Amino acid sequence: MLDARLVMKSHPNHRTVVRLSEQVAIGGDDVIMIGGPCTVEGADQMEQVARQLSTAPIHALRGGVYKPRTSPYSFQGMGVDGLRVLADVRSRYGMPVVTEVMSIAQIEPVAAYADMLQIGSRNMQNFELLKALGQAGKPVLLKRGLSATIEEFVMAAEYIMAHGNPDVVLCERGIRSFDTYTRNVLDLGAVVALRQLTHLPVIVDPSHAAGKRELIADLARAAVACGADGLIIECHPEPDQSVSDARQALSLEAMVDLVHSLEPIARAVGRTLSKHTVVEPKELVAV
Ligand code: PEP
Ligand code: MN
Repeated sequence: MLDARLVMKSHPNHRTVVRLSEQVAIGGDDVIMIGGPCTVEGADQMEQVARQLSTAPIHALRGGVYKPRTSPYSFQGMGVDGLRVLADVRSRYGMPVVTEVMSIAQIEPVAAYADMLQIGSRNMQNFELLKALGQAGKPVLLKRGLSATIEEFVMAAEYIMAHGNPDVVLCERGIRSFDTYTRNVLDLGAVVALRQLTHLPVIVDPSHAAGKRELIADLARAAVACGADGLIIECHPEPDQSVSDARQALSLEAMVDLVHSLEPIARAVGRTLSKHTVVEPKELVAV
């Protein structure tokens, strides 16, 4: 391993807890659930998502407003209007939100609205962006690069920490392989290795790993069983109508059922999966 002096454990029990809000922190005893659509599509969509997910032990919301699309002709995200939609559900449901930044210029506006900044796979080794995140003042969810080795992944986290931000959460989201049946290969071995090597929380994204909704629940259960500190899963009020990643989107009902099925698994590995506070939604305001 290269010189990863800040990311590596200093002793076997060394663990970092990354706080997203007063109620929600990743890396403690609680397994943290993050759910929401691939892309923020509008206020109605996010209202439905937040209303339903807030009834379950789901702690934070996701939704992209700056989207890294393979084609330049595909929808690129709602931008600042999408940030306002996220800010609205965030405040009314008391759930922290995570959303992706793709450039240095996006850090400031996103940090003004979101509780955690996601760095997507395609940017895991965008070193100038990683350096700039050092001063973002918000936790970073760093997703593993499409074909990144564990060492490259650890060193990307080291960049963020070396530039001043200690609040980094690692996310295994599947790696490229020869097989096209699944979108990627979920590397649960990396989850175990990263939790042994580093003190940072490690969460799993089975949605982008599998690419197929019928595979996600079992992969999520396996992730909790092998020690993941949380999960980030895509879900949508009308999964087949999702503007992006429709094939892997769970319905909101399936998402809630899945989370309940994780509770005994979390207990079996010495973790908890619960919602500490139920926040009554505040009145809907027009955005
Ligand atoms: C996403 O979370 O919607 C996403 C684009 O993920 P990844 O960067 O892992 O492909
Ligand atoms: Mn997606």
